Amino acid sequence: MNKISSERRLRIQPTRNFGELPSNVKSKERNQRSKNDSELWLEETRIIIKTKDVIRHINVWIKDGDTPRPLAFDFSIQEIVYTLNGRQKLRKVSLQRKLPVEYVNVPQLPPDPNMKHLKFFIDLYYDDFGAFNRAYHKLGGIYIQIGNMKRELRKKLRNHFLISFVPFGGEFNDILEEFISDMKELQSGVLMTTRNEQVWVSAGLGMVTADLPQGNDMAGIKRQNAEYGCRTCKVPQNRLSDIDFDIFQNGRYHHLTNKIFDEIKSSQNITTRKRIAQEHGVCLIPNILDDLFRDRHLQTPQDPFHCLAGLARRFFDHLFKCELEKSGLDAFHNEWKSFEIPNSWKRLQSPITHFESYWMSDSLRLVMIMPFILSRCLIPAHFKQGFAESIKNECLLANIRQVKAVIVEAWSLFAKFCAKVFANEFCRSDYQTLDQLLGKLIKTLNKVINY
Ligand SMILES: [Zn+2]
Repeated sequence: MNKISSERRLRIQPTRNFGELPSNVKSKERNQRSKNDSELWLEETRIIIKTKDVIRHINVWIKDGDTPRPLAFDFSIQEIVYTLNGRQKLRKVSLQRKLPVEYVNVPQLPPDPNMKHLKFFIDLYYDDFGAFNRAYHKLGGIYIQIGNMKRELRKKLRNHFLISFVPFGGEFNDILEEFISDMKELQSGVLMTTRNEQVWVSAGLGMVTADLPQGNDMAGIKRQNAEYGCRTCKVPQNRLSDIDFDIFQNGRYHHLTNKIFDEIKSSQNITTRKRIAQEHGVCLIPNILDDLFRDRHLQTPQDPFHCLAGLARRFFDHLFKCELEKSGLDAFHNEWKSFEIPNSWKRLQSPITHFESYWMSDSLRLVMIMPFILSRCLIPAHFKQGFAESIKNECLLANIRQVKAVIVEAWSLFAKFCAKVFANEFCRSDYQTLDQLLGKLIKTLNKVINY
């Protein structure tokens, strides 16, 4: 390791004073607060600084509703400045994820301070698969990986550790109980003997990856068809494709969801419990994984592979059933037959005749070549009239001949988006590109597809 990378750094959230706030949120009341309690505003963005640049320690009162007023403090903070679709906004400071140091409360130190301390993240995966291809019921597989491993190592089959299978009708909780009790031991640290020394090993739960609906179950959130069926935010069904929906303001935060679960638990009768659960889109009892230290929303992310392959399927379905006439499907099929498919791909069957047998990876491959196929084969007469008319109106087109360009553009945006999501490398600026691409894609899709 070179000297620069071994140097300690701090990741911090900068603050602003009243004068530095955007003008749309500067109010008399905020100005007064900045004077009374030396209030500052926290920035959403994080920056990295060197420890030697720290000048001194100060006391800040975080007014999150749970922290009482300290006897003495230098500054107070109760709001965060963030940007949504290019506009600066403010939200309460409690609408922010806690750091592990704020909720992990077991001592994990080795009994002897000179002993080597090894720390691990254990990532959990859960997915259904057809043990006998597509016949019979599906089997659930639970396996773990060591999160500290590099991606290259994690890809190897020998680094996947199978915990158990969940047979059809089996209960996830029963099967996971043993894993939870082992993890609890590891959370507080255990002594292990390696080849020539004793070491202290501690581990915590890392990422939990699962498809819908299991991912929602593991986060303790109602299934995806519920009114609030997202495990990351509280988006209602009718705003799922609304680009202006504020996921910061309406995000799900572990400590706040805890309060909802507490409220449910302390309610007297089942009707009240169900009502509270429904109101917030949470399950009646938290998932068994909550016995471990974790952030149920942050550590149960949406799985991009399932999300995008599922979305691709819906788009294909829409294209074949609602957008194209029989002549369009025939033209597509003919173009497909002669299309120069990359040599490294297995030969796929035509999506027009065999889409039902497509695997998720097949759909994502097809997405890559869709813009080319469509731009080569489509003519205006291939579109169903009603569909073409609605695109013409939605996109304010002068002529029905322009519809093709909109459809090709939508597929090309989706292909670019998938390429970015599954790229081998991902740096900070890629998040911005991805965000912009997603914005464009949603706007286009909202015009093309009416669910
Ligand atoms: Zn959401």
